Amino acid sequence: MIRYSRYLMPTTKETPSDAEVVSHRLMLRAGLLRKVASGIYNYMPAGLRVLRKVERILREEMDAAGAQEILMPTVVPSELWKESGRWDAYGKELLRFKDRADREFCLGPTHEEVVTDLVRREVRSYRQLPLNLYQIQDKFRDEIRPRFGLMRGREFFMKDAYSFDADDEGAAESYRKMYDAYCRIFRRMGLDFRAVEADTGTIGGSSSHEFMVIADSGEDAIVSCASCSYGANVEKAECSLSGVAASGKGNGAAKEGAPVPGDTKGEPRKVPTPGKRTIEEVSSFLAIDPATLIKTLLFETSVGDVAVLVSGAHEVNEIKVKNHLGAEYVRLAGEERVRQVTGAPSGFAGPVGLSVRTIADLSVRSIASGATGANEKDAHLVDVVPGRDFVPEAYADLRMVREGDTCPRCAGALRFSRGIEVGHVFRLGTKYSEAMRAVYLDEGGKERVTVMGCYGIGVGRTAAAAIEQNHDDDGIVWPISIAPFEVAVIPVNVKQADVLAAAERVAEDLDARGVEVFFDDREERPGIKFKDADLTGIPVRITLGEKNVAAGFGEVRDRKTGETVRIPLPELADAAFALVGKKKAECAP
Ligand code: ATP
Ligand code: MG
Repeated sequence: MIRYSRYLMPTTKETPSDAEVVSHRLMLRAGLLRKVASGIYNYMPAGLRVLRKVERILREEMDAAGAQEILMPTVVPSELWKESGRWDAYGKELLRFKDRADREFCLGPTHEEVVTDLVRREVRSYRQLPLNLYQIQDKFRDEIRPRFGLMRGREFFMKDAYSFDADDEGAAESYRKMYDAYCRIFRRMGLDFRAVEADTGTIGGSSSHEFMVIADSGEDAIVSCASCSYGANVEKAECSLSGVAASGKGNGAAKEGAPVPGDTKGEPRKVPTPGKRTIEEVSSFLAIDPATLIKTLLFETSVGDVAVLVSGAHEVNEIKVKNHLGAEYVRLAGEERVRQVTGAPSGFAGPVGLSVRTIADLSVRSIASGATGANEKDAHLVDVVPGRDFVPEAYADLRMVREGDTCPRCAGALRFSRGIEVGHVFRLGTKYSEAMRAVYLDEGGKERVTVMGCYGIGVGRTAAAAIEQNHDDDGIVWPISIAPFEVAVIPVNVKQADVLAAAERVAEDLDARGVEVFFDDREERPGIKFKDADLTGIPVRITLGEKNVAAGFGEVRDRKTGETVRIPLPELADAAFALVGKKKAECAP
């Protein structure tokens, strides 16, 4: 049992000025966290209890899924990162430094290299596979904008796991096990989350899911189907090939999918569009539906200049363009480059007669006859027929999905929400095992490369996300599984012997039953004690006031609902114990 009078949990009334999100504010105000430097924190006793509880759930589920806990160093020699090629590729998030002998090191932001080095030394045979190693460890990433407290820190705890399998099938199975374990983990923490398909980015690999806690303050935009379980990061969200959302109505916009046969007669007409560059300006000037405008964007990419076409009703998704091209990078060309390539200022580019490589979103194929830039200042072309007047190298899904678009998996409508990425599972394939030669001998004695996966969960970010999702005007409303304490016992006035004695009795009773009790034995005004109890968010509160105790009663209050029940003193511990049990059941996997 913890006694508040002896406990370092300095609550404050003031809202800290640099805390932008509610979890950061409440963690500071509830005395869980103190800043040392930007993105670097002291964890106070109660804050550390929360992290330890998150970690306990992580350990239990990782162990149950067959992973083995290890601990790797935070200080990592540069050689390993040079072997994988990431010493140069990782950029400024990697904090590099030298030791006294001038050898280069970094603080590990993630541990693929270290674990692959370990496994290549220790694993020789197919009999040792599959292998899944995890750790819960201090990471350092020199984030460009550390903010939101534990949500985006520079030094933070992460659970990172790495699986090694003999083949793709095994790797898929390891991935599925981790995916399932993650679902159990976040359910046990009482969180409303979604696993969404994510882009695999520069890490490569075949598939990846992000686990998102749904919260308006989330930094990620996610797309989910109202009817089925489809969910994706907005960067990754696919468009249905058979349906376009509303505004594509009007002349010219046909159903997507089937190519519209090109008109064999006629040709585009040039019309003056003085100073009209944007989709809105051009479509209203020409009095046409924006969906029939063929927007033409020039990108400079690692594989050369590429023009990307999309209907005026849509936006280009750069990630899809990058993946389609297999490019290292893509970026929108500047004004100068646009002039060189199209011969016109930006806003007047079009695919007709353009000599640069051209790819088009599927929305363009459904335009029977549209308008586009004439590659000439202050002019556009109308009556432009895709397939007749220009032929892109390929039609592909290259656009951002929009709210209300048809789900790519079913007929449902897609909706947007915001999420906090708390976990990430990744099929790495052989990227690291190939580069670092993590090989084993198969049954036939043949040397093969192991197939890897990696799986991360941010400990502090998860705790912060739990607060984003569970709070009210008065403070935190912890899910009981990660609350610093389960029951707060409050003798309203500790100077009254009866009250204090009754409080001690119930606190000790619960403590003996294994309940985590926080005993507010401070000589503070009742209002302050109640406010602190609400602020710190302990799920169950027992209040012992003078009048009630004199009449043989105490109160049990549910922090979440505010429901308060008056209960005879001998039954008080039972009632609180039952409420704790009920709340624990709500955090079942
Ligand atoms: P983000 O896109 O938010 O920067 P990331 O893709 O870099 O995240 P991963 O490399 O997949 O994150 O790391 C695994 C997990 O570690 C994340 O899901 C998140 O929970 C946590 N994490 C990552 N960066 C931070 C950070 N700066 N502060 C706290 N937790 C973090
Ligand atoms: Mg990051």
